[in-house]
Amino acid sequence: MARIVMKFGGTSVADLDRIRHVAAFVRREADQGHSVVATVSAMAGETNRLVALCEEAGPPDPALDVRGVEYDAVVSSGEQVTSALLALVLQKQGYRARSWQGWQIPLQTDSAHGRARIQDIPPQNLSDAIDQGEIAIVAGFQGIAKADRIATLGRGGSDTTAVALAASLQADRCDIYTDVDGVYSTDPRITKQAHRQDRLTYEEMLEMASLGAKVLQTRSVELAMAYGVNLRVLSSFVAPDALNPGTVICDEEEVLEQKIVSAVTLSRDESRISLLAVPDEPGRAAHIFSLLAEHGVNVDMIIQSPARTSGANISFTLPASDLDHAVPYLESAKALIGYDRLVADRDIVKVSVIGVGMRSHTGVASTMFNTLAERKINIHNISTSEIKISVLIDAEYAELAVRALHQAYGLDKGVA
Ligand code: ADP
Ligand code: ASP
Ligand code: MG
Repeated sequence: MARIVMKFGGTSVADLDRIRHVAAFVRREADQGHSVVATVSAMAGETNRLVALCEEAGPPDPALDVRGVEYDAVVSSGEQVTSALLALVLQKQGYRARSWQGWQIPLQTDSAHGRARIQDIPPQNLSDAIDQGEIAIVAGFQGIAKADRIATLGRGGSDTTAVALAASLQADRCDIYTDVDGVYSTDPRITKQAHRQDRLTYEEMLEMASLGAKVLQTRSVELAMAYGVNLRVLSSFVAPDALNPGTVICDEEEVLEQKIVSAVTLSRDESRISLLAVPDEPGRAAHIFSLLAEHGVNVDMIIQSPARTSGANISFTLPASDLDHAVPYLESAKALIGYDRLVADRDIVKVSVIGVGMRSHTGVASTMFNTLAERKINIHNISTSEIKISVLIDAEYAELAVRALHQAYGLDKGVA
């Protein structure tokens, strides 16, 4: 008898019919004698609706609350509804099921409301329940922070709930059910040529998640890697007894066929700030990036180049969602930093190619740059790590670039 954590995303629980459908997946595991903890997202679109309501209702200065405690109290409610509905459906079908909110477990987080990190999940309460044959249905995305306030784990956070529960309960499997039948070589919405990968390494999946493949929240992959969680992504849009192998995320040794490039990703949540003519002297860059760090702005690609007039141009990327938050801090420090002009740019995207095989093969970068050059796509910034190359390009070429690269690395269906 195994311990299994299952997670169902928003489209998988979009209405009562779909909730009844996922109940069949849960029953299937329970009927085989397994102990089951299932965690759910809010119904598709519900979290967006709740976020919009907060933005309309809340104070204009986000620091006053929009991303704070009341925001979390509102946006966490979607998962409260679906967890209890799934429990009700299972009860009606004769199963012992109970919903669990974050505070009831308790799933303890830090106080970074809106993007809280899980600090601890004492396993006792859930263990006791499932050991007594109950099916535990956990509201994803939420936990309890200091002062007993509800905190949410950032968008897509139910994936992290699932993996953290699996780690805490030492589950045998953590199955993430979604609206695609696994992790693809690129977002299947961008090209029909994308294909499902049987296996990916934790490292590849981590890069993919952080570079735009929204199928798993980045933090969930970090946790899976750290705790060796046996993670799988598979479809809830098939019959519960259908063949459904999904994609297994595992250690490198368990991936037999290592491709040079396994995936192409696209991140649209990108923006760029350029500070022009910053005095070229020690301490200026330190000043800029300390200021941003102090205000929780996550900076990515950084480029410094000589300015045409005097000094240096410093340009860096940051999530588009952080741009409006970051600009005022830089503008108010203009005199101290000493730059001449600030230019903010939203119409850019990041396209990346990822694969563990890159470690041992040359020519990956030149294929990327040649492919983009042939399509007359200009590269603004480049960044690399051992297993990925990312480029910043104009947003209008986003999909063209993904399709061209997908083909260039032999990932198109039938070829791969
Ligand atoms: P859920 O609601 O189940 O959490 P998400 O919408 O968060 O689902 O994630 C699934 C979606 O991720 C898919 O519908 C797909 O469009 C998108 N996606 C992006 N990149 C990939 C990829 N490489 N493989 C699979 N899905 C991807
Ligand atoms: N409902 C939350 C969101 O839409 C969490 C999740 O779906 O994982 O971001
Ligand atoms: Mg998701």
